[in-house]
Amino acid sequence: MDELGPSRVRLSWRLTNVESGANNNDDDGGGRYYVATFDNDGTHRKVKACTLVVTIPTYAIGTSLDVVLPGSADLFGRGKSDNAKISGGVSYPPVASVTVAYPKSTFLDIDLADGSGNLRDLPGFGMVSTRSAGLRILATLVSSSLFPGRCPMEYNLLSCTIGGARDEAVGAMSEDDLVAVVDGDLRTMLLRPEAPHPKVLGLEIWPRTIPQYELGHSDTMTELKRMEDANDAGGLWVCGNYRTGVSLTACINFGYNQAKVVAGHLSSKRRG
Ligand SMILES: Cc1cc2nc3c(=O)[nH]c(=O)nc-3n(C[C@H](O)[C@H](O)[C@H](O)COP(=O)(O)OP(=O)(O)OC[C@H]3O[C@@H](n4cnc5c(N)ncnc54)[C@H](O)[C@@H]3O)c2cc1C
Repeated sequence: MDELGPSRVRLSWRLTNVESGANNNDDDGGGRYYVATFDNDGTHRKVKACTLVVTIPTYAIGTSLDVVLPGSADLFGRGKSDNAKISGGVSYPPVASVTVAYPKSTFLDIDLADGSGNLRDLPGFGMVSTRSAGLRILATLVSSSLFPGRCPMEYNLLSCTIGGARDEAVGAMSEDDLVAVVDGDLRTMLLRPEAPHPKVLGLEIWPRTIPQYELGHSDTMTELKRMEDANDAGGLWVCGNYRTGVSLTACINFGYNQAKVVAGHLSSKRRG
């Protein structure tokens, strides 16, 4: 962000509409252009561009692209699950992150079989849990083992993730209830019965998180590709983690590759 500078990266502007037009001359890459309208707290701004890569989540697209991609409002308005109905054709289930600390002395006193130490010191990265184990926590990171100085030596600090596609109720839970569920699961897994109520150091609820590639997702993406291809103006791409893979690595790799696609499109327009 600092490297790109404030004239290239503008924060807090919400895309509301995209239209296209035609130039009288070909100075800026030839022929067609897009006008994207952004809103920032009631202030509107139009940006003209030869190409447009739209990387906002599907639930934010709404009707904004319907002029240039007819049918996109309907496509992203379709629901396959209850969550998808409110999320623009793709399901983005909620996730909460709850960060808690307990005294080391209240963890189970077990020497681990692999010789890595005593469970009280939680000598590891963390753990992933399964619903079949009767737990609601999805994953736990032992922040105090991963990063030095995160909490006093006599404590363990745990960042627990809860929610996801198989536990969407999490999105409507109170903070107290979330802490109670996390505390209950940690007591089942790691703590002695007399462990105190945890120190709650962080709690964040994301109502819409990672897009789910549900049955039918591929058809939705095929339809999106058909709309892009049918756009005579060319130079408009609609993408994001719902299309390119959800891992950060996949998103970054996609960004590098898409930049080459955009550069190729612009140079072919200049040549043509
Ligand atoms: C809780 C959580 C934990 C994760 N953990 C990991 C992990 O450990 N490892 C990993 O590899 N991946 C992880 N992921 C996945 C990964 O972070 C995401 O898939 C990735 O960051 C998505 O990138 P994106 O650019 O597609 O979307 P986003 O990062 O969601 O970017 C979309 C952007 O669009 C903006 N926007 C929304 N509406 C508008 C609008 N109308 N106009 C303009 N802008 C708008 C948003 O503000 C946002 O900045 C995690 C995701 C979540 C939610």
